[in-house]
Amino acid sequence: MRLSELRTGEKGVIVKVMGRGAFRKRIIEMGFIRGKMVDVIQNAPLKDPIHYKVMGYDVSLRRSDAALIEVVSETEFAHLTNTAQQYTESPDADSGFYQDNELEALALNKGKIINVALIGNPNCGKTSLFNFASGAHEHVGNYSGVTVDAKEGVFTQNGYTFRIVDLPGTYSLSAYTPEELYVRRHLVQEQPDVVINVVDASNLERNLYLTTQLIDMDVRMVIALNMYDDLEKSGNKFDHESLAGMIGVPIIPTISKTGFGIEALFNRVISVYEETDPILRHVHVNYGDTLEKYINALRKMLKRNGTVDKTYSKRYLAIKLLENDKEVKQYVQSLPETKPILETCNQYSQQLEEMLKEDTETALTNARYGFISGALRETFVANKIKEVSSTQIIDLFVTHKVLGFPIFIFFMWFMFEATFKLGEYPMQWIEWGVEQIGNFVRNFMPEGPLKDLLVDGIIGGVGGVIVFLPNILILYLFISFMEDSGYMARAAFIMDKIMHKMGLHGKSFIPLVMGFGCNVPAIMATRTIESRNSRMITMLINPLMSCSARLPVYVLLTGAFFAENASTVLLLMYSSGILLAVIVAKLFKRFLFSKEDVPFVMELPPYRMPTSKSILIHMWEKAKQYLHKMGGIILIASILIWFLGYFPRETEQGKIYESQIEHVNSSNTLSEKEKTETVTELNRLKNMEHQQNSYIGRIGQAIQPALAPLGFDWKISVSLLSGMAAKEVVVSTLSVLYTGDSEDSQTLPERLQADKDKEGNPVFTPLVALSMMLFVLIYFPCVATVIAIVNESKSWKWGVFVIVYTCTLAWVVSFTVYQLGSILLNLIN
Ligand code: GDP
Ligand code: MG
Repeated sequence: MRLSELRTGEKGVIVKVMGRGAFRKRIIEMGFIRGKMVDVIQNAPLKDPIHYKVMGYDVSLRRSDAALIEVVSETEFAHLTNTAQQYTESPDADSGFYQDNELEALALNKGKIINVALIGNPNCGKTSLFNFASGAHEHVGNYSGVTVDAKEGVFTQNGYTFRIVDLPGTYSLSAYTPEELYVRRHLVQEQPDVVINVVDASNLERNLYLTTQLIDMDVRMVIALNMYDDLEKSGNKFDHESLAGMIGVPIIPTISKTGFGIEALFNRVISVYEETDPILRHVHVNYGDTLEKYINALRKMLKRNGTVDKTYSKRYLAIKLLENDKEVKQYVQSLPETKPILETCNQYSQQLEEMLKEDTETALTNARYGFISGALRETFVANKIKEVSSTQIIDLFVTHKVLGFPIFIFFMWFMFEATFKLGEYPMQWIEWGVEQIGNFVRNFMPEGPLKDLLVDGIIGGVGGVIVFLPNILILYLFISFMEDSGYMARAAFIMDKIMHKMGLHGKSFIPLVMGFGCNVPAIMATRTIESRNSRMITMLINPLMSCSARLPVYVLLTGAFFAENASTVLLLMYSSGILLAVIVAKLFKRFLFSKEDVPFVMELPPYRMPTSKSILIHMWEKAKQYLHKMGGIILIASILIWFLGYFPRETEQGKIYESQIEHVNSSNTLSEKEKTETVTELNRLKNMEHQQNSYIGRIGQAIQPALAPLGFDWKISVSLLSGMAAKEVVVSTLSVLYTGDSEDSQTLPERLQADKDKEGNPVFTPLVALSMMLFVLIYFPCVATVIAIVNESKSWKWGVFVIVYTCTLAWVVSFTVYQLGSILLNLIN
């Protein structure tokens, strides 16, 4: 009976906890373990929750949760022993007394009954397996549809009793045919302890489709790789052990006709039931970025609603809702307050259909086949290729051991080339626009701090950054195209081996590439990596992937100091980041996350022409994020920096310069030419003095000694300091700090080149620029990235860790480059 059925004051001993996943774990952690005694403290018929005492603790459970715990009660026990005593005539036959430990023994025994359901495609040998195991003689036929309803058989092995049910064969678990519905209802209503998924080894691709759906449902299962004799005869090679490791489900070869492997199969059923099986783990079929986002949103809504039955996986319900599954829709409809969920679901389906140009059901089906073909690509070698689809032909080249790499490198090169070359034109237009706005405001506003704030602080700061919007859009155009077409999955596939050398997994590759766009979504994309170790490393090294926010800094400095070799220097930056990431990943793997990783499936979805709509949506989302950042953090930082640099207005030394300028202007002894020259020089000194004495100058000077060995003056120090908010801010800070006189029409690069320190030495040299670019590449990931890491790792410690390690690394690298470079330059000169 169920725990919820025990009345106040009654006792029971736990037989087993049903349900799945997190729920089950929580209940077991509360002390509801097989063989333990539970006392009902209070169970009033309409009261919820119910109060229990278990293992000395008082706990309360919701009625619906208690209904998923099977127990033996005293009355049940008494009834059983009475019937037994009629035959044994034991001495205390009618005393009615029993011992607690006897009750426990009964519960333990009952816990050794395992309910097993056989599920598989028609004609894969389920009934044969059932017959062999249970000794029954059901009709076995070589045509589908023979098993109309479920048959039950019982047998024992190794002290466990198996109650197996032979279910009708199905290809899928959608609700189209009566068989499919029947099997699904059985899984939900009967809650078998373990499912045996019988798979026809001679037709893996089609048979594993059902397996993916069972994975979605999150049932505990064992796969019987049946018709193993056929597989061996065919000469195909199948590494079922490595597939088992990837999907976290034991796979046991069987030949149900002869009984080969069936004992081993049921032994595995026992270890899965007892949760001692070494490879047992729950994996997700990854449906790809777009679909996953919607699935997750629905899953969260279902979770928030809170009325969904514990026996259902919410992820499964979300998938089925998107699939427009009638049964699941009706079920969700029957729950209270689910109208908004269903409405959202309809909206989502429509959006997805427009984006993907196919209905969601097809999209999900394709993704499942992608999962299967990825899994088989790694584990299955066909003796001879039967039929080839265009996807297979393309994959022959693209995922080829040798050819794959040049193709991949070409695509990467093409992507970056296009990002920078094509981006130049719109960049110039925007630059021009920003300048016009600045001039307009300059001409039409009265002099004063407000005008200075608008022109130099806001338009200068934000304008300096907004020009890079086109680059970012183009980069995302490529990334979205590669993702949606299915190529990115192949790239991950061929990178798998290399990634393993870094202690990562092929799946880490996509977030790393995305990191070139923006580290924040990239860090969120690590969710698809199952193994926590790989995931953590991928997250922690992601800031070394040079995101597009650092691009403005490179473009500015290479433009000013490496105009001839701009592309080479850019490439150097990106590859330094990658190289450092490799080294750091290896170190982390060695010292922080040394546990061995579990293998998992790399999906190979069929190729598809991405729709322009889905790509535009992706691009628009990124643009929105970028503009958001612009309006938020960059705007605030610009205003703050401008303010800190603008005040205090008046200083002693400043007044002296002013009177000197006046003096020069009113002088009669100097020629006009001499006059302007002296005034310009005095103005320069005055401005510099003002900047140095401004608040920001003081902060910069305070931290500058720590950065001086890297070749940085106080202005660079200040811009690096403010760049912690977001790296684009480095450029906007420089452009605010280098406003100079509003009369001259120098561009920012020209001003950087011209800037001299007190001794008249240039502040920026190519070596300084290089050191600064490297520093910007490595140091402090922006605030948003740190927040993303804290969120995803669920620990602020990793956020702190990233800050510390990146800043240290940046200092060391820049120091080495600057000092070695200076020595080298001295030698040459
Ligand atoms: P069901 O539809 O899944 O219940 O499949 P059946 O048990 O009715 O078997 C279908 C056919 O496959 C029968 O002709 C069986 O004899 C045959 N069969 C079952 N298991 C095996 C096996 O392991 N190897 C081979 N070669 N044939 C098998
Ligand atoms: Mg059958």
